[in-house]
Amino acid sequence: MFWRALSLLAIQGAGGLVGWLAGSRTPSTLPGLEGAVVGLVLGALVWLLIDTTRARRWLLWLRSGDTSSATAHGGLWGEVSDRTRRLLRLREQAAQDSRTRLQDFLEALQVSPSGVMLLEGQGRIEWFNQTAAAHFGLDSERDLAQQVGNLVREPGFAAYFAGHDYRHELLMPGRENTPLHPVKLSVQLHRYGEGRLLMLSRDVTALQQAEAQRRDFIANVSHEIRTPLTVLAGFVETLQSLDLSAEERKRYLSLMAQQAGRMQTLVSDLLTLSKLEGSPAPGVDHWVSVPELMRELEEEASALSAVLHPGVQLAHRLDFDTSMQWEVAGSANELRSAMSNLLSNAIRYTPAGGAVRVRAQLSSDGTARFSVADTGCGIAPEHLARLTQRFYRVDHSRSRDSGGTGLGLAIVKHVAQRHGVELKISSAPGKGSEFAMIFPASRVRSLSRCIATRLLSE
Ligand code: ADP
Repeated sequence: MFWRALSLLAIQGAGGLVGWLAGSRTPSTLPGLEGAVVGLVLGALVWLLIDTTRARRWLLWLRSGDTSSATAHGGLWGEVSDRTRRLLRLREQAAQDSRTRLQDFLEALQVSPSGVMLLEGQGRIEWFNQTAAAHFGLDSERDLAQQVGNLVREPGFAAYFAGHDYRHELLMPGRENTPLHPVKLSVQLHRYGEGRLLMLSRDVTALQQAEAQRRDFIANVSHEIRTPLTVLAGFVETLQSLDLSAEERKRYLSLMAQQAGRMQTLVSDLLTLSKLEGSPAPGVDHWVSVPELMRELEEEASALSAVLHPGVQLAHRLDFDTSMQWEVAGSANELRSAMSNLLSNAIRYTPAGGAVRVRAQLSSDGTARFSVADTGCGIAPEHLARLTQRFYRVDHSRSRDSGGTGLGLAIVKHVAQRHGVELKISSAPGKGSEFAMIFPASRVRSLSRCIATRLLSE
């Protein structure tokens, strides 16, 4: 301010001096004074002109929006322009930081596994991420600023949106929902800001299916246990209320033992399944001898065949090929349980006089194949895909009569998955079935090669 006043005084002083000098040469009563006054006024005008020009330049610079170049140097206007430029640069930096932060935030939302959509109060779409685009079939080029109700046309959603009560989520069918492949979405709106809406969507198909499976499973287990339990309770009541002969009592007790045995088998299969689901997959450091497994299976098969067909000599022709010597990496108990289930099915679903053939072969590509083939009742093709589901039975009474729980093939499937085994089923009604487990090369080693290695290392 001081320099500004000084410059005004200096220019005015100079003007006054020039005026006084010029006036003293003209003939007048007060020649010098008049000239000085005129000079002072002219000096002030010149100063004002210079000042206004600099102020105008500053204004033009501000209007141009290019704050990178300087306008004035020195003086009040120079300082004003410097400070303005610094302030604007700080503001620009802050705005740039906010833009970068917003961009980062949107990128994070973009990769969110949940669908995120931002709506303005009336339901106009402001932004959505790629998951929301996939959930509702949206296109970020085409659908921004559209009404959400025009694009998500599910009637349930329209009612939910119009109802303005967003405390609960809405479950609605997804875009690709078909009766064969149901797709379920969970959608919920949340209010934020000034009348804006945040719409979150999740694909809950797997969750819903798991929940339905859990319900089915509990219903099935209850049903499976209730039947033998009801029979047992009936026999107990009969034994309590009726005066039975020793022969009758013996027969009832034997039937009761049969029902108790059925429940025991069911509980044991359920425990096996739950153990398979809850424990880590078996490693590849424990080797199981397949010929030994085959010997155990052969004994078990003869015993089961005899139990199911009492009084019939050699009810089934059992053909076990134990010539191939190999080992498999995994859990001996699990493998025994899976193979034994396949074998017990072959015997149970093959009438007396039929044949059961068991093979355990090494293939040239290093994989190995364990197979059980029978000449039994066979399975119609429409059942094959669902055979390994828990409690799925083709023939209910036959399964129960022969002591089946409906869990055998579910156990086989789990064991197979845990050992990287491919399960192949081929069957023809009336002709027989073959169930094969294909072991990956990484879990198979030839016993002869391993004996040779052991001998070499000794
Ligand atoms: P289950 O205890 O009833 O035998 P599984 O899970 O072992 O239960 O088998 C499921 C269904 O698959 C059986 O109920 C039966 O209908 C059918 N099945 C399994 N193995 C055979 C087979 N070897 N021959 C014919 N049907 C079979």
